[in-house]
Amino acid sequence: MNSSDQHHRSAWLQGPSAECPEVPEPLEHPWRLVLLGAPGVGKGTQADLLTRHMGACHLSTGDLFRQAKTRSEREQTLAMSAALNFMRRGALVPDSIVWDMIRERTSCLRCAGGFVLDGFPRTLAQAQALKVLLESERLSLDAVVNYELPVVEIVARLSGRRTCEKCRAIFHQTAHPPQIEGVCDHCSGALYQREDDRPEAIAVRLEAYANSTTPLIEFYRKLGLLVTVAARGSPEAICERTVAEVQARSRFVAECRCEQRAGFAS
Ligand code: AMP
Repeated sequence: MNSSDQHHRSAWLQGPSAECPEVPEPLEHPWRLVLLGAPGVGKGTQADLLTRHMGACHLSTGDLFRQAKTRSEREQTLAMSAALNFMRRGALVPDSIVWDMIRERTSCLRCAGGFVLDGFPRTLAQAQALKVLLESERLSLDAVVNYELPVVEIVARLSGRRTCEKCRAIFHQTAHPPQIEGVCDHCSGALYQREDDRPEAIAVRLEAYANSTTPLIEFYRKLGLLVTVAARGSPEAICERTVAEVQARSRFVAECRCEQRAGFAS
């Protein structure tokens, strides 16, 4: 991700008082997606690729908390300091704190270019609250993409992941190493291991995913929104697969609507 992408999301990352300097051109049919999948499955990378492809905004709750972490303790609200403590341990931040942050940023859900929600919702309560909010805003999701990958591969991905502290580019010690160890290829920033990518936090995150987030798969399947994508192969190949699945779902929905209209007409 480059710095202009970061600026582009200032309203999301810094809160409603910040405005995004570049507002996307209104699209005739902006895509609105939710990405699901265990931590480490590559949702962040896919969200970046998809938002570039679609001209949409990448809305990651994890990025929002990481951004808050860069502020001094004095600048942080009590709720945010509490949230960051949960995050450090790999535990989920309580729904009430997450929801307050989402509600404050409702304008980002109205983004003219559409959005890709990455890391939210993560519990049934969050998913139900999002459904009500979108309905009240007369917005609908185009699809909920569930990325699948076996647990052993997830653990290997997370424990080797290194992130640039400046531009947030992501590397992997074996699968995608930087040219110089510990240094970002793009901006020469230092690479670090996220606190929640350490082994003890990984175990907590995977358990939180299994207990809290897996039920969302059924929730969205019943709403007819779920598409499943194998998270294997290059990021570009996974992105192409995702776009094809979402387009197939959109065609299917459009055909059903046509048939319904024809049924009413006859
Ligand atoms: P991520 O980058 O999406 O893996 O998120 C990093 C961490 O932020 C998670 O392990 C949680 O501690 C916290 N977090 C992010 N999004 C949520 C959410 N929707 N609900 C609860 N906690 C969250």
